[in-house]
Amino acid sequence: MAEHVLDLSSRFIDTGRVDGPPNRVTHELSELADGVALVEAFSHVLVVDTDEGLVAFDSSGPGSGGRVLESLRRWSDAPFHSLVYTHGHIDHVGGSRAFAHDAKSSGRPLPNVIGHENLIPRLQRYRATTGYNKVINARQFGGSPVSTLSGTSSQQPFIPEGTLEPVIEYSDAMTTEIGGVEFQLHHALGETDDHTWTWIPHHQMISAGDQFIWNFPNCGNPQKVQRYPMEWAASLREMAATDVELFVPAHGLPIAGHNRIISCLNQVASTLEQLVDDVVSAMNSGATLNDIVLGVTVDPEVLELPYLRPLYDEPEFVIRNIWRLYGGWWDGKPSRLKPASDVALAVELAELAGGAETLSERARVLAESGELRVACHLIDMAADAAPDSTAIHEIRAWIYLTRRAAESSLMSKGIFESAANESREAAGQEFEPRRSILSLEE
Ligand SMILES: [Zn+2]
Repeated sequence: MAEHVLDLSSRFIDTGRVDGPPNRVTHELSELADGVALVEAFSHVLVVDTDEGLVAFDSSGPGSGGRVLESLRRWSDAPFHSLVYTHGHIDHVGGSRAFAHDAKSSGRPLPNVIGHENLIPRLQRYRATTGYNKVINARQFGGSPVSTLSGTSSQQPFIPEGTLEPVIEYSDAMTTEIGGVEFQLHHALGETDDHTWTWIPHHQMISAGDQFIWNFPNCGNPQKVQRYPMEWAASLREMAATDVELFVPAHGLPIAGHNRIISCLNQVASTLEQLVDDVVSAMNSGATLNDIVLGVTVDPEVLELPYLRPLYDEPEFVIRNIWRLYGGWWDGKPSRLKPASDVALAVELAELAGGAETLSERARVLAESGELRVACHLIDMAADAAPDSTAIHEIRAWIYLTRRAAESSLMSKGIFESAANESREAAGQEFEPRRSILSLEE
């Protein structure tokens, strides 16, 4: 028999050894307690049975909502009383069409959709930035260059038609009783400004949304809006102050056992708090962003914890977000306050170096010796100075693939692969763009 999901998480946390992915997209259901089920997907759906019907936390994404519902319907055919969104990211709200279809096809009313009051404005922002969101997700999840986004998929909205929006909104906190079960909803800033974590005393359970993801917190994402590390940590401390026995994040494994849960929550909270302290004190001493990005680090042992590995986001990006939150956009280097165009600077340097090929050759040598950061600057300049050079694009593709291989986070890997693919395309090479797991055509 397969190991129960709660035993798996206990084993990973207690031994510190991870021999399988904690983030599983199986669309399979596990019972976590009597009347509590979890379907692991991208993202998960947590369901609590009550005397008035089911209360679901999140709906999963547009491509997975239907499969999640199939699993849930094998477990219970009770109506969905409510659907609580932990936040407005597409992988949490995009599957709600399947919930709407489930209600309509059985002649039942739609679930009451509940979310924080910042959630609807978030969906409006996504509608205004459909193209941008598709571009950044194609890079982040698919390593695709922007050019692959032409055709019919680019016409479809980022937030699919028929996505259910909250009909019940709240500001700071809301307590509601459904079918004899009390749900205490709490607003939190963290990964987003519209997060809801819920304390369910009857089950001594927390639904945490993305405030805990079995990865280094997604608190730095280079292509997305501001995140809030200090407030994020505060929400984890609040969660740790409950009598929690069962902790259910929207990605990764659920965790059982009070002491185990609070040690994980406090560890993530202190890691974020320490980063903020280090960055802010460097800012207070007049350091530039570049000094801080290259000077502030997280203890490597912390980054090996099963639930803090930088496999999605990473500390370097969180540092930049802290700078943005507590300071301005300018990085402290005077020439970058009102910079020259990238191309003008590249042309000038290429000329000084004796040609764009010299720059690209030096970039290749540096990359071979592991100096990937500098190599990438030089190869970008070479390509800016000689955008039609097949030879330069071939080197650039190789350097960015080498860089990709040296990175741990999906975000870095995706962006560097996308750069490599841009150059493979410019050099006329064949390549197969990875399919985005958030593709709307799934
Ligand atoms: Zn998520």
